[in-house]
Parts: sequence; C-alpha cells; structure tokens
Amino acid sequence: MSADILEQPKIRYRTFEAAFGSARESGLFRAVGRLYSNEGTLGPDWVHLMDRLRDAGATNLNLGRLLEGHANAVQLVRLYGDAGQHAWLEKALEADTILGVWGADDVFPARVETVAGGKMLKGGKRYASGLGMVAHAVVPIAGDDGQLQLYLLPVGDPARQDLSAWKVGGMQASASGRYSFEGVSVEPGMMLGGVGVYKREPFFEGGIWRCAAVHLGGLEAILAMTVAHLEASGRFDHPLQTERLGHAILHARTARLWVEDAGRRIEDPLEAETIPFAVAAASYTRLQVEASALAVMEIARRSVGLASFERDHPLESAIADLSVYLRQANPDALLLHKCRTMLTGLGQ
Ligand SMILES: Cc1cc2nc3c(=O)[nH]c(=O)nc-3n(C[C@H](O)[C@H](O)[C@H](O)COP(=O)(O)OP(=O)(O)OC[C@H]3O[C@@H](n4cnc5c(N)ncnc54)[C@H](O)[C@@H]3O)c2cc1C
Repeated sequence: MSADILEQPKIRYRTFEAAFGSARESGLFRAVGRLYSNEGTLGPDWVHLMDRLRDAGATNLNLGRLLEGHANAVQLVRLYGDAGQHAWLEKALEADTILGVWGADDVFPARVETVAGGKMLKGGKRYASGLGMVAHAVVPIAGDDGQLQLYLLPVGDPARQDLSAWKVGGMQASASGRYSFEGVSVEPGMMLGGVGVYKREPFFEGGIWRCAAVHLGGLEAILAMTVAHLEASGRFDHPLQTERLGHAILHARTARLWVEDAGRRIEDPLEAETIPFAVAAASYTRLQVEASALAVMEIARRSVGLASFERDHPLESAIADLSVYLRQANPDALLLHKCRTMLTGLGQ
C-alpha cells in the first residue's frame, strides 16, 4: 500500500467525464461483465473484480458506483436468467451496454397491476444511479404478499428520468435520480428468475463487498493524494504529519484486508465456511470500511489543511464523493443483526 503510493506521487482523482470516457474506450464494463461465469459465479476471479472496482473508485467514485451496479446486474442475470436472457446479456455486453440494479423505492413504490390483457407497472424507483447511462436495470418489485420479483427492464426513456431530486454535495455525476415505471407493460422476457430469488444468499447482502471495494479505492486515493501533497510541500517528514500518515495507513490496510476477506468468502468460499458467516463478514466489512474511510478523510483534512477544501483540489471532490457514497442503507441494523453470527463464527 505505502509502496504503491510512493511510486505514484502524482496520482489524481479525475473528473467523472475523463474517467468515464477512458472506461468506455477501454471496454471496462464489458470486461467486468465477462468476469462472471454463465452460472453467475466468480470463483478466484473475485480478485480481478476487486481490483477493477478499487481502481475505478480511486479514479472517480461515480465511475465506481456505475461499475459496481453493472457487475451486480450482470451477476443477477447470470444467476437467475433463462437461456434467452443469457443470450441477451451476451449481446448487451458485446455492445458495451451499461446495466444497473435499482432497488430503492420511490414515495410511490414500484408495483405491478393486473389489467385487461396483461400486467402493467406503476410507481417508480429513486436513487437510481446512471440515469441516461444505464440502458437496462434489474428492478426488484414487491408483490401483494411482499415477496420480491426481479424484472429486467429497459430504462433509457428520458421522459421517465428525473434528476431534479438528486442535488447532493458529492456523487452528483452518478446521476442517481428517480425513474418512473408508470404504465410500462410487462412483456414476456422481462421477469427474471422466480419470486424471492433476489434475496438468496450469499449474493444479496453478501454482495455489499463490491460496494466496499469501490469505497476502498476512494479511501486509498485520498491517502495517496494526501501523501503527494505533503511530499510536494516538504511537510512529509514532520513527525506529527508522519504519525498521522501512519494511522491512515493502518486504517487503509485494515479496510483492504476486510475487503479481501469478504470478497473471497462470498465469491470463492472454502468448503468448511458457512454462508451466514460470509454474509455477516461482508456486512461488517461495509461498516469497517466506512469507519476507516471516515478516519482517513479526517486525517487528510487535518494534514493538508485549507488547501484540501479548494474547489479545484482533487481532495475536495474525492472527499465530497466518498462522504456521500458511504451513506448506505441502515448501518445500525447491520451492526446489531450480524453481531451474534460474527461472534459464533469468529474463529472461521
Ligand atoms: C451515490 C449513491 C448511489 C446510489 N445508487 C443506487 C442505485 O443505483 N440503486 C439503488 O437501489 N439504490 C441506490 N442508492 C441508495 C442506497 O441503496 C440506499 O438506499 C441509500 O444509500 C440509503 O441511505 P440512507 O442514509 O437513506 O439510509 P438509512 O437506512 O435511512 O440510514 C440513515 C441512518 O438512519 C438509521 N436508520 C435506518 N433505519 C432506521 C430506523 N427504522 N429507525 C431508526 N434509525 C434508522 C441508519 O442506521 C443510519 O444511521 C444509492 C445511494 C448513494 C449514496
């Protein structure tokens, strides 16, 4: 970690436009989609996915968000899709199509109504990343019994996209707005897998390790930029600066080891390992990476000072993005609900 940073003192957090342009040019979305086997597993290739997600997060967290959602969607189609949907996915990846998973319900949640001659969608989703960039989304929709059914839906209609509610201090470029499904008819081939498959573990809650890998990339980039600033300003060797950097390295390494552990446990488990423990470890990984990231961001601000708040300083945009992206659903519940499993499986 520290060696990487010293070898790349000029590392810069790029603008979303630059990062996204390079990702499109290099076929990053296609390459990541093809890491998954036809059955939706990664096996030892989880390392390559982790590296791609970390790199994307370090380059620009908005790009990392899109790439993570795309990987999640590809895995769901591979896991639960039929032969026709698998063939569709191949073509979509070939065309460098970007996919997403839009689960967060809007004020009027997405639902399905039976109408004469078929089924029709109502309501919509919010925090739907990649509006205008994601072409198809995997969308979980609850039935009357509360059970979730996945749908694979085209989401490119600009008239259904609403970015007006996405006015945030960071991650603005992730374009995470509302999408209305009001009046969309459910066509054959849109339903993905059976009722309830979405919540199957280890890939539902356990999949959070991917998000933690992107956060890790952002955290490491912030540390690298802090080091670069201290080197350039001749302040690196002041003992208090070095001490702070030492603590930041401890946080970054800790986060890295948790992410590596979770990725392997979820995607390439050993025979003796249990799914509940892998899922709990992935959940706690999210919490540990959040804590490490908050600590590193504070260290970066204290070490660099006012310059880190200048609007055109890459630290400012990286910290703003990571501060927003770290806010994921219900961290308190994760800490409480996974505590017992973490204790029972602590030796695994
Ligand atoms: C950049 C970004 C992109 C996103 N993109 C997508 C996307 O593409 N698709 C998608 O589906 N979602 C997306 N999301 C949304 C994400 O999945 C979560 O829905 C969202 O981040 C939840 O954040 P929150 O702060 O509202 O969580 P909350 O769960 O509201 O947590 C806020 C605080 O309240 C606490 N809390 C939660 N519930 C309770 C309760 N009942 N009582 C008391 N306290 C409680 C939590 O522990 C926490 O302290 C995105 C989010 C971000 C930040």
